[in-house]
Amino acid sequence: MRDGLQLEERRLPTEEKITLTAALAAAGFRRIEVGSFVSPKAVPSMADTGEVLAGLLRGGPPRGGATATAAMNTEYQVLVANDRGVAAALEAGAGAINVVVAATESMNQRNVRRSVDESVKVTAEAVAAAGSVPVAAIVAVAFRCPYEGPVAPETTLAVVDRLVGDGVGRITLADTIGAAGPRAVGELVAAVRGRHPHVEVGFHGHDTRGLGVANVLAAVDAGAAAVDASVGGLGGCPFAGKGASGNVASEEVLGMLEDAGIPTGVDVDGVAAVALELERLLGHPLPSRRLALFKATGSAR
Ligand code: ZN
Repeated sequence: MRDGLQLEERRLPTEEKITLTAALAAAGFRRIEVGSFVSPKAVPSMADTGEVLAGLLRGGPPRGGATATAAMNTEYQVLVANDRGVAAALEAGAGAINVVVAATESMNQRNVRRSVDESVKVTAEAVAAAGSVPVAAIVAVAFRCPYEGPVAPETTLAVVDRLVGDGVGRITLADTIGAAGPRAVGELVAAVRGRHPHVEVGFHGHDTRGLGVANVLAAVDAGAAAVDASVGGLGGCPFAGKGASGNVASEEVLGMLEDAGIPTGVDVDGVAAVALELERLLGHPLPSRRLALFKATGSAR
């Protein structure tokens, strides 16, 4: 709901966001990134994140029932960019806080107009302020940067080491522009796991080159415990340039994991139904192939 919707031209009403997010919780997701606490001028589509969170923490849409129960048991994460965002997230009752730190200086400057050092510091301060609320660092361009080209594993691992040293308990390796392949993803996840066995490692992939789902499997096989995806394959990176496509689609990831015998606890068709509704509300087709299958056959499986 954050990486997927932030760049959409058509803004979803707050009530629709609450209803769709609660439907995703009811489908079985244990974590959902609902929005961001960043400048509403920079990202107007996320200006209502506080209201969305409040609606979900009240138990989701008014119709209640199973949906409301699921909505209460899900961790609602938000993205922040600075200490003000951290304070707003904690005040709003966010279940976890995500901070982006790029592996390269060029990307970090483009993304948040500060150095990697300064972003590591923001993350460390978030850990100190958040208490028992988990803080995750999303390490952007962990594999390849649109400005600096291929990123050496040592470069990314050096940033990871500093973040873990500052107490970050969740590290997400992000293939921000969808340029990594399964071998590189598996090796980097394994390297972080080897150095920091007590840290939860996640993977955030984009499907630009059609390798999104393969990369997720490589990450999971190497020990990743969390995977980012977006419903219908919504979203994209504003810095990724021409031809960049969206996040790897949630239902494609879920279907693949289910087929591989890796239980997710999430109902693939429930997610595909939300993707279909999002397509209607946003007024343009979504790239997910499992959604196409769902439309054609009534099931994304
Ligand atoms: Zn992304």
